[in-house]
This record gives sequence, structure tokens and C-alpha cells, in this order.
Amino acid sequence: MKLKEIFKGERPVLSLEVFPPKQDTPLDGVFKAISGLKELEPSFISVTYGAGGSQKGRTVEIASTLKNHYDVEPMAHLTCVGQKTNAVDEVLEDLEKSGIENILALSGDPPRDQPDFDRSKDDFKYASELISYIKRKRDFSIAAAAYPEGHKDCPRILSDWEHLKHKVDQGVDLLVTQLFFDNRIFFHFLEIVRGMGVNCPIVPGIMPVYNAKQIKRIVSLCGASMPPEMLIMVDKYADSPEDMKKAGIEYAINQIQGLLDHGVDGVHVMPLNQASLAKEIVSGLSWPDHK
Ligand code: FAD
Repeated sequence: MKLKEIFKGERPVLSLEVFPPKQDTPLDGVFKAISGLKELEPSFISVTYGAGGSQKGRTVEIASTLKNHYDVEPMAHLTCVGQKTNAVDEVLEDLEKSGIENILALSGDPPRDQPDFDRSKDDFKYASELISYIKRKRDFSIAAAAYPEGHKDCPRILSDWEHLKHKVDQGVDLLVTQLFFDNRIFFHFLEIVRGMGVNCPIVPGIMPVYNAKQIKRIVSLCGASMPPEMLIMVDKYADSPEDMKKAGIEYAINQIQGLLDHGVDGVHVMPLNQASLAKEIVSGLSWPDHK
């Protein structure tokens, strides 16, 4: 089912995310996670695309298995960094052949070990160009990324949201946000971009914190800020993984509940391939009556 149809139905929508393991690691772990995540009856599960455009085959393989073996609606992430049009066409072809209907179309970041990566030879500079290309050529439902604190490379937050509006106008059916930890940031973002005429569903991306090192690494890469209560929590439990996990789950439950109580279109939970983490969070929520 296409994203467009999913969000025409009952809301809020629960969606989840998995990521492909490293190239030389078997896929059993991710499929085990998917078996557990399926029990939560998500409306769709997204599959990330390896940083720097790597692991494209694995994203297609996992998304295809979700659809054709687990009977779960997939959304395949697709980045265009370092890609030529024919390489993008190949992936689109593979996705279409596997019956996948939904793509999260992204620009992507250059590989981390190549700080001088030259994007001038890329056929698509911004996600908006990739989106308008896919819309012209194929019949996928398209989601895109949004940044409630502004994208890290954009010097003015409002300019980033103007770029977001232009991106949505290329034919975006859904926005999924970057992780954030303070709901006020999301509500402020929502108010501004709705005022700018961004009318598609906007779903907050939530990443539970269960490991101090891991979350510091993630926020340092994506540029999300950590509110004081989160910093205190991470410092307090840095040497106590079990307590850190418990506190992280409680934080995620409270954060998502605050979003649901505010009437969001849905929530996209990124449990880092740990079905038990997602289950603990979802079981702690009081899901509102459908809109
Ligand atoms: P864009 O929308 O192209 O924006 C990138 C930058 O360019 C922004 O600063 C924007 O303001 C600016 N910009 C856009 N248009 C213009 C314009 N016309 N003129 C000037 N500036 C412009 N990365 C992966 O590698 N794999 C994944 O699977 C993945 N999944 C993600 C999922 C979500 C929900 C999110 C939020 C991010 C994800 N990322 C992923 C990270 C993403 O690829 C990076 O954040 C990347 O830097 C930006 O991608 P984008 O599609 O948002 O880019």
C-alpha cells in the first residue's frame, strides 16, 4: 500500500525502521528483528540506505523480504550522493520488480572517510532533484526527510525550511523528521512549516537512547541537540548500561506520549534493530483513538 493511502486511513500511524548490517554480516539478525517488530503491527517499516550510497543491494533485499515474506509494507530509503542517473534507475527498477511502492528519497551524506568528496559529478545535488526525477519516471509514493532544528549544513534554519517546502512541492506524500529530544522543537517547526504551506503528513522520528556512547556519536553526526534533562541522564547512567536503557526507554515513552497527546500524524520509531526495545516502548504508550 502506498504511503498516501496509509495516511488517508486511521491516524496516528505507527511506523518503524531497520538498518542493514555491515556488508559481511549475515542478514539473519535483521530478519529476527523484523519478526519481532511485525508483532507491533506497524503500518510500514523503513529500511535505511548505507551511508555514502553503500549497501544498496541489501536495502532492496530487506525491503523485498519485508513485502514478500513478512507481508509488512516496506519503505526503502534511497540516497543519491555519489550516484549517476543509471545507478539510480537500476535501484528503482529492482524496487519496482520487488513490488515496493514507497521510497524515502534522500540526498545522503558523503562517505565519512572522504572529507574532500566531490559532489560536482553527481547527477542529483539535492533530494528535491531526485524526487522530481522519480516522480517523472515512476509511480512510487515518496517520503522525504525534514529537520525540526534545521539541517546541519544549512546556515539559516528558515532557509532549510524554504528548501523543505520546495522539496515537498516536487511530489512528497510524507515527511519523516530527524531525531530530536525536546518536543517543543518539533511543535515550533510544525507551526512554521504548516504556515509556509507544507501540508503533507509530518511524522516525528524517535530514537530511543539506550547507550551513552552511541547517542553521543549519533547526535554529533546529525547535529541534533540534547536538552539538559537528557544530558543529565546520559551522564548519570554512563557506567550503568541497564539503568541507562531503562531511563532511555522511559524518556522515549514520555516523549512519544507527549507527541501523541498533541495529535501528531504518526510516529516513526528507530529501535536500532532491537525489537525488544520497540516492544517495551510501544507497550508503555496509551495510543489515542484514531482520527
Ligand atoms: P536535502 O533535502 O537535499 O538537503 C540537504 C541540504 O541542502 C540542506 O542543508 C538543505 O537546506 C540544502 N538544500 C536543499 N535544497 C537546496 C537548494 N535548492 N539550494 C541550496 N541548498 C539547498 N542518510 C543515509 O545515508 N541513509 C539513510 O537511509 C538515511 N535516512 C535518513 C532518514 C531520515 C528520516 C533523515 C532525517 C535523514 C536520513 N539520512 C540518511 C541522512 C540524510 O541523508 C542527511 O541528513 C543528508 O545530509 C541530507 O539529506 P536530505 O535528503 O535531507 O537532503
